[in-house]
Amino acid sequence: PGPKPEGAIRFVCVSDTHGRALRDVQMPEGDVLLHAGDFSMTGRPEEVSAFAAWLSSQPYRRKIVIAGNHDLTFDEASYAQTYSRFGHPRQFDTSACRKMLEEAEGVEYLYDSSTSVDGVTVYGSPWQPEFGSWAFNLERGEPCRQRWQQIPSEADVVVTHGPALGHGDLCSSRKRAGCLDLLHELQTRVRPLYHVCGHIHEAYGVTTDGMTTYVNASTCNLRYRPDNKPLCFDVMPPRRGGCSS
Ligand code: MN
Ligand code: MN
Repeated sequence: PGPKPEGAIRFVCVSDTHGRALRDVQMPEGDVLLHAGDFSMTGRPEEVSAFAAWLSSQPYRRKIVIAGNHDLTFDEASYAQTYSRFGHPRQFDTSACRKMLEEAEGVEYLYDSSTSVDGVTVYGSPWQPEFGSWAFNLERGEPCRQRWQQIPSEADVVVTHGPALGHGDLCSSRKRAGCLDLLHELQTRVRPLYHVCGHIHEAYGVTTDGMTTYVNASTCNLRYRPDNKPLCFDVMPPRRGGCSS
């Protein structure tokens, strides 16, 4: 984007970095770093610690992160089943992994929760419709609906690992993997300014439905090479007080 409008907050979005050569990714200037999950291949402690170190080194004043289906140790419920399937030699300490991320400089880890950036509400959730047998899987239909109903109506920026149906979700197989229930909740109730996701690497890019701008910020391509540039947008924070000029 061009120069930032005066008073605006610039969000810089990345996703699906999968532990790949982050030092080679050119990070533009901005205020808030958003990462939409899949920061590792399988959530091993050494991957989490490398990612936390990279986050700490980033100059943004806020760094907002969610997990994705690859970040196995962040889904305590499924990890008891996934750790052996994905080759972990033992069950690593999930809370230690989460702590490493949460304690990185300036980082906020969102898990079906929100935070405020100068009055701009950012909500984050790692869930997605079933995708293999990885972490944070939900059956389509009611389980997805219930999860998306938790998104607060006042959310200005919604970050989920998986895309909404029809936006940043076209797979190389020509199937659309996005969630219909997420799309419905975003379009009929939440109407955020931005929806940020990753997960479908080959669907990197920006789309709109005329109300919400949908950003698939997948940094890695289908071959897990970190070739896609970070995507940026600017949001004006709400005005404070009752004065007008
Ligand atoms: Mn991914
Ligand atoms: Mn994913």
